Amino acid sequence: MRVGVLGSGSSGNATLVWAGDTRVLVDAGFSARQMELRLARMGVEPEDIAAIVVTHDHGDHTRGMGVFARKHGTPLYMTERTRDACASLFRGGEEVRFYRPGRPFTVGDVRVEPFLTVHDAADPVGVALVDARTGLRLGVATDLGRPTAQIRHALEGCDLLVLEANHDEVMLATSVYPWAVKQRIASSHGHLSNQAAARFAAELAHPRLAGVVLAHLSHECNRPELARRVVGDALRETGWSGYLGVASQDEPLPLLDVETLRRRAGPSQLSLL
Ligand SMILES: [Zn+2]
Ligand SMILES: [Zn+2]
Repeated sequence: MRVGVLGSGSSGNATLVWAGDTRVLVDAGFSARQMELRLARMGVEPEDIAAIVVTHDHGDHTRGMGVFARKHGTPLYMTERTRDACASLFRGGEEVRFYRPGRPFTVGDVRVEPFLTVHDAADPVGVALVDARTGLRLGVATDLGRPTAQIRHALEGCDLLVLEANHDEVMLATSVYPWAVKQRIASSHGHLSNQAAARFAAELAHPRLAGVVLAHLSHECNRPELARRVVGDALRETGWSGYLGVASQDEPLPLLDVETLRRRAGPSQLSLL
């Protein structure tokens, strides 16, 4: 399984999952042109994308999906309520397939397990994606106010995690955002702080977890090195040592090969058992 974070943040999110012969995008929050350019850097043609799995209706996850789907004939997977909430992005002719949180479905070699999250969208979900041939499991959880038991359960046993580390709690509190915006971001229906992500990542760490990619960092209320330090410290305290990446808005992360990451992380982790 290979994973490419095309970009992540409040201006756009999209992640490529490549398992066997199947390539799937989770979210399409950049313009179609931008997604084409970023996919090209990973050696992927837009026509190769078998599906776009949309997690919720917010623009930073849906912006380019309509244009991309119409241009390349890509099926869009989302919940019915998400479709209703972003109806303005459709012109007719897109192929929309509905899924329900808690009901896994399959796209080629990828099994998609959508689960309900807590976020101020019409119908917010996170997804676990499993390579049907190897069993490797990727968890993608951005845009969640707090980790619930259901989210924990869905993300247990992942080989790679793309996890939100949205803001530093002090930077948010002292930011120039209006009070209502600060409240929304920090609420249980908003976004995970670095500190909350650190606690959650430490809970989810296990010896087979090869890597964690921190995502959806706030431009105003976070810094990549700060998120990396806060979450990295918490992970190291559990004895975990693996790949820790930080996704950015402007540049895609290099394509990550989960099996290679596991081989690299393996020996030092096994010695801790
Ligand atoms: Zn978002
Ligand atoms: Zn959102």
